[in-house]
Amino acid sequence: MFADSARIIIKSGKGGDGHVSFRREKYVPNGGPDGGDGGKGGDVIFQVDEGLNTLTDFRHRRKYAAENGEEGKKRNCHGKNGEDIIVKVPAGTIIRDAQTDKVIADMSGGNTRQIILRGGRGGKGNQNYATATMQAPKYAQPGQPGIELEVRLELKVIADVGLVGFPNVGKSTLLSRVTNAQPKIANYHFTTLNPNLGVVDLSEGQGFVIADIPGLIEGASEGIGLGHEFLKHIERTRVMIHMVDAASTEGRDPIADIYAINKELEAYNPDLAKKPQVIAANKIDAIYAGDEDPVEKLRQEFEPQGIRVFAISAVSGKGLKELLYAVNEMLQGMDREPVVFEQEYDPSTAMYLDEPYTVAYDEEKDEFVVEGPRIEKMLGYTNIESEKGFLFFQRFLKDQGILEELENLGIQEGDTVRMYGLSFDYYK
Ligand code: GDP
Ligand code: MG
Repeated sequence: MFADSARIIIKSGKGGDGHVSFRREKYVPNGGPDGGDGGKGGDVIFQVDEGLNTLTDFRHRRKYAAENGEEGKKRNCHGKNGEDIIVKVPAGTIIRDAQTDKVIADMSGGNTRQIILRGGRGGKGNQNYATATMQAPKYAQPGQPGIELEVRLELKVIADVGLVGFPNVGKSTLLSRVTNAQPKIANYHFTTLNPNLGVVDLSEGQGFVIADIPGLIEGASEGIGLGHEFLKHIERTRVMIHMVDAASTEGRDPIADIYAINKELEAYNPDLAKKPQVIAANKIDAIYAGDEDPVEKLRQEFEPQGIRVFAISAVSGKGLKELLYAVNEMLQGMDREPVVFEQEYDPSTAMYLDEPYTVAYDEEKDEFVVEGPRIEKMLGYTNIESEKGFLFFQRFLKDQGILEELENLGIQEGDTVRMYGLSFDYYK
């Protein structure tokens, strides 16, 4: 469920260039190279700030850049590293690539600090390039560029309860009545284009988050109409309130509506239809006496299936308390841990995906060799020594199809793979 979002541009620092210089001392005519290494560019780090609970700050400031690393200096002096930039966000913020919408990080649970963009590595100064035959190298390595990326931040509020029903049955009215939300209420279809969230406060600190899932219509599971986008949101809720217009003010048949919507839910994801649900038979204020009581009919149909029916009027408030307390009770004892999103995209990887690499077998050494700029750059941004870095590196090899290429070359368990001075044993 997404209540709040913002778009910002983040940029990591460029690595400082390596320096080209030569020693100049009195009485030493041809001093050797003494150009120092450039400093590392600053990282872009996201950090959870418990004091924040909205993303409004990001509407005022759009760009967040870390500092560049300084160029190396004479006399083997290392350039200063660029300062990191710390972007403070509320807990539960999801960071997505703005173009692809892929998840870069989910700042929830234990994840309170994460490097989102790594600064570029500093270039090596010319002192590193002196060899027996080239004693006065005029070359120094340039610093690695920083990465600039537009990201979308979303504040994740997981709704406990999904409110489903055909248009105009009174979902928005209920939400505005029992929560702090202010949805649009109107007597025409598809007014609500985004899921509206509201917090229901019951006594003694009890309560839950309820989401009005709009636009569920027949065919939604096949992507027709607005429904499909929203079905995604119901997947994460724990209890569903099915709302129907018990008074049939628009001529709908409430029993048929419930079956129709359940069929939609099931077609989309069979687990959805198995979620605990209750029926809110709304608009009882508009039921004419003398008719066969539609609420009774609903009860006869659904209570044998274990689905409770609550007669309510979202407009007058009748029956709402019973409904909310019953839902609250259902939620008790359910696992209410929010879902944590998996990383789908790593911008530090993405920037060198166009670069070439090769996978080969070195007969002389009986080793497999993986090299090329893509691999080299990847290693430049990754700390292989850390467990996280190593896992990331393994996933990189897999995602890039490198493991598959090694297999195609006939690699066996226990064989050695060499990459830029690092050697690994191959295991599946
Ligand atoms: P939604 O499309 O399900 O969100 O429905 P809305 O909340 O926008 O309501 C549709 C119409 O039904 C509006 O005109 C509401 O005023 C009306 N309505 C909602 N709840 C009740 C109710 O309990 N009684 C009556 N008589 N009308 C209601
Ligand atoms: Mg509505």
